[in-house]
Amino acid sequence: MGLLDIVPAGVITGDNLRKLYAYASKHAFAIPAINCTSSSTINAALEAARDNKSPIIIQFSNGGAAFYAGKGISNKGEAASILGAVAGAHHVRQVAKSYGIPVILHSDHCAKKLLPWFDGMLAADEEYFAKHGEPLFSSHMLDLSEDSKEENIEICVKYLERMAKINCHLEMEIGITGGEEDGVDNSEVDNASLYTQPQDILDIYNAFSKITDLFSIAAAFGNVHGVYAPGNVKLHPELLGKHQEFVKKELGLESDKPVWFVFHGGSGSTEQDIATAVNFGVVKMNVDTDTQWAYWAGIRNFYEAKKGYLQGQVGNPDGANKPNKKFYDPRVWVREAEKTMVDRVQQACKDLGNVNVL
Ligand SMILES: [Zn+2]
Repeated sequence: MGLLDIVPAGVITGDNLRKLYAYASKHAFAIPAINCTSSSTINAALEAARDNKSPIIIQFSNGGAAFYAGKGISNKGEAASILGAVAGAHHVRQVAKSYGIPVILHSDHCAKKLLPWFDGMLAADEEYFAKHGEPLFSSHMLDLSEDSKEENIEICVKYLERMAKINCHLEMEIGITGGEEDGVDNSEVDNASLYTQPQDILDIYNAFSKITDLFSIAAAFGNVHGVYAPGNVKLHPELLGKHQEFVKKELGLESDKPVWFVFHGGSGSTEQDIATAVNFGVVKMNVDTDTQWAYWAGIRNFYEAKKGYLQGQVGNPDGANKPNKKFYDPRVWVREAEKTMVDRVQQACKDLGNVNVL
């Protein structure tokens, strides 16, 4: 039985989202969450997933959402970030079904100072729910990992209570995902902030599961945001397995993988580390840096190959009067960017075992 026997194509929320993550956890694959900043990058991600026969997660960062609305408008009070996230969400909802795949619509990192953005998106979810019986977004992420664990949980719980009413999923982060430019060697350090402790996971699980099971945890296991050469990062994805065991044992649960984990800062990690993380219950992995490069690479390659045709509107190596419109039309070179991005998203799906699962 494939995934499309369980959940429909198009944007999925609530119970369908629950079914999808449960299915992914059971079959040990994870879904890449692609950071998108435009209709072009959204379409590329959807196209890649369709051709791979896999579900996909489209997510907007705070800055990406503002960019979607347009750099020309003010982001005072997070106005542009709210507008862009909602506009992007409607674009995804409008086209997703035509790609024939299940799509999770998500917003990325929201730190405490960006809470007005979160509030704005939630208001849009509630408005959508009143009309359609489901939220606009499938899920949102709250990142209060820089605050104390107690405050992190407290604020998340407050939001989760509101989100549970509209069947919206919450992703939270605990522990510090590093992001320094030069790879600080933390291989000997086993401190509580770089490596989330089992007790932290249990505390979150206890507090959240009283409200709903629609939540996931981005735990720190030595991951870093940004790009490093493989091997530079000491990842300990096996810690996730320890967390699962601990929660199961402490609460006397049936499931071997009671927690849905999210993998942040995965750029540059080895296939083995990714596979281990997925086996221990990672159902979502963020992909941003690598698809940014892929998008650019398509344009760079095109320019290098067609340089002589891109120096003026008229005149190229074939003749001084030859027009160049079919080279500089944005649909041509933006499409080249989309093609290389499609390839990279498909690679991410492959790395996560998320191929031919529909
Ligand atoms: Zn993170």
